[in-house]
Amino acid sequence: MLAAPAREVVLKLHERCNIACDHCYMYEAADQGWRARPMRMPATTVARTADRLAEHARTHGLDAVRVVLHGGEPLLAGVAGVEAAIRTFIEAMPAGVRVEFAVQTNGILLTESFLDLFRRHGVRVGVSLDGDRAANDRHRRYANGRSSYDEAVAGIARLGQPVNQPIYGGLLCTVDLANDPVATYESLLEHRPPRIDFLLPHGNWAFPPPGLAPRTGTPYADWLIAIFDRWYAAPVLETEIRILDSIMSLLLGGPATTEMLGLRPPSAVVVESDGTLEGNDALKTTADGAATGLSVHTNTLDDMLAHPAIAQARQGIEGLGPQCRACPVVGVCGGGLHAHRYAAGSAGGDFSGPSVYCDDLFALIGHVRNRLAADLSRTPA
Ligand code: SF4
Repeated sequence: MLAAPAREVVLKLHERCNIACDHCYMYEAADQGWRARPMRMPATTVARTADRLAEHARTHGLDAVRVVLHGGEPLLAGVAGVEAAIRTFIEAMPAGVRVEFAVQTNGILLTESFLDLFRRHGVRVGVSLDGDRAANDRHRRYANGRSSYDEAVAGIARLGQPVNQPIYGGLLCTVDLANDPVATYESLLEHRPPRIDFLLPHGNWAFPPPGLAPRTGTPYADWLIAIFDRWYAAPVLETEIRILDSIMSLLLGGPATTEMLGLRPPSAVVVESDGTLEGNDALKTTADGAATGLSVHTNTLDDMLAHPAIAQARQGIEGLGPQCRACPVVGVCGGGLHAHRYAAGSAGGDFSGPSVYCDDLFALIGHVRNRLAADLSRTPA
């Protein structure tokens, strides 16, 4: 029996970056596989990936698929290189299959030429920014230590022009407990993003995230709860916040928009610049890495989904260990991101325990649930 289909390919178009963030899972994590891969994905590998995605869409009767141009820094592929990749996917898709595009960039190279290209092809643009200048400079610097803040913000300003509203995807902020949460949220709001994606720093039981070794309290929940209270109390919806929107949606019986929450199987596969097929990028932070040994050059996307390591991550509640299965918030939490459950153990690692963020997720979900419940139980005066 075929597994639930993948609907999204994360395409590692360019595997080097023009800045050297010290919290980057690509270069600073346990998996150093990028060193052996081509800097830029060859056109033949782009074409092979497009064919594999088209084949997958036909096999599963999909009417829409998504391609996320990723890196490293994907814009280092140049305007012509990025456009060639986009055209390759459009031309490969069978009739009746819509292909949507997104790009995740640090914003530095987000020129008018790129924006023109993205408008023409409807490419949704997400930019990574960790907050104000001080927050951003804590990690997002050039290799020589120089701040990348001014260039990133200039790129976001170009993206924020009215003509680009249809393609402004939002901002991606990696949580750093050293930054004030509300000040971080409000500094991001100044760029008028339609959505903010707060990303928990990748880590697991073998390589704990900052602030969780030793474990004391729920610092990440506290950080996000401060933002939730500020955001939820605003008289108008200022922006979407993906993790909070997903928690509220799941609490009310809807879907999540992040694979970090909920029990639905992840829909994305990663294709590295040499064609290697991998699961979630966050697995790079585990000692065993994200490698499957499969490639678009020799394997279908269904081969990838049947790989034991990937299949386990897509099993929903059946793939969770006893603690998560018995947890009262498992329908919302879903055990958190698969990679965050990693503990060193048997070959391939042990994912049967809860997330390294378990206490934080439990506290955050409980806070949001209590707030929603209080609102829903209000009676007219
Ligand atoms: S809160 Fe903890 S135990 Fe409950 S589902 Fe999430 S990770 Fe598992």
